[in-house]
Amino acid sequence: MNIFCVGQNYAKHAKELGNEVPKDPIFFQKASSCLSTSDVIKIPKGREIHYELELVMIFGKSGKSIPKSEALNHISHWCLGLDLTDRERQNKRREKGLPWFDAKSFPGAAVITDRETVDWQKLEQDLWLTINGVEVQRGNVSNMVFDISTLISVLSEIVTFQDGDFLFTGTPSGVGPLHDGDELMLGLGDETKGSLYVTSS
Ligand code: ZN
Repeated sequence: MNIFCVGQNYAKHAKELGNEVPKDPIFFQKASSCLSTSDVIKIPKGREIHYELELVMIFGKSGKSIPKSEALNHISHWCLGLDLTDRERQNKRREKGLPWFDAKSFPGAAVITDRETVDWQKLEQDLWLTINGVEVQRGNVSNMVFDISTLISVLSEIVTFQDGDFLFTGTPSGVGPLHDGDELMLGLGDETKGSLYVTSS
């Protein structure tokens, strides 16, 4: 199983990190072992971890060189996810032009809610994240720099994706650090999809 991710896929978020809006999708991966369905987020000792709320696509069949027009047929399920990031470490690596793998793949760094059968109309609703009752992120697929069909098609030119792989589709603006004791709620439209608690180990 692979966890593919897309960086800077919402213009406002690219800008809040001080980046240009990308001309092509920026793909990276997280270690498959960091996938977490737990409702507890454990912050690694002494590190500052940022939340990134994302819409996550789950592939239902493998593919290579898939045209945009057929891309969505390869998705069977979706869920919400948190692409947890050690921002300080990521920035240090980026300054030197190095891969930021170790900022993205600590245990539990890919949090997902329950998988649901894909319903494209439903996914046109806003995704949102609250921390301690305050909304910190809100996004909508219509604000993506590269839509889901484009992401899948471009990804499939690079790799063969497989049944069961995940695609984190990028985060809207509003990212920030998590703190011990924070309570997170993730949702789509008027439905809460996940409720999480943060502890520091
Ligand atoms: Zn992300």
